[in-house]
Amino acid sequence: MTMLHPTWCDPAHCDVPDQQASLSARGGAHRSKLVSLNLETEARGEQGWVYAGLSQSAKPRAGAFLKWIINGQPVGHIPINDAEPLTWLIADALANLRGDDQPIEHAKAPGQ
Ligand SMILES: [Zn+2]
Repeated sequence: MTMLHPTWCDPAHCDVPDQQASLSARGGAHRSKLVSLNLETEARGEQGWVYAGLSQSAKPRAGAFLKWIINGQPVGHIPINDAEPLTWLIADALANLRGDDQPIEHAKAPGQ
C-alpha cells in the first residue's frame, strides 16, 4: 500500500515509510516545515529560537497537532481543531495589514 501525505507534509521532516504492510501497522509521523517565531520570551533564552510546525501520526484517524519547539525540543502541542479559532484571527489581522479588509466600528462602547 502506497502512503499518501497531507499537502503540508514536508518530505525532509516526514518519517512515514513509503510502503506500509497494513493500516494497523502504520508507523512514523507526517511533519511540516518548521516556521520560526519571533517571540520575545524568557523561554527562548540565548541559545535558540522558537519554532512551530504541524505533525500527524500515520495511524488511521490520527489528528493533526500544532506543536512548538524551543532549542530543538518539543515543548507543547495542541490539536489543530483547537488552534482553528486562532488561525482565523490571524487571517483577519493579515487581511487588515494587506488592506484587503477594512477596520470596522463597534456597535457598543469599549468596555461594555
Ligand atoms: Zn508525510
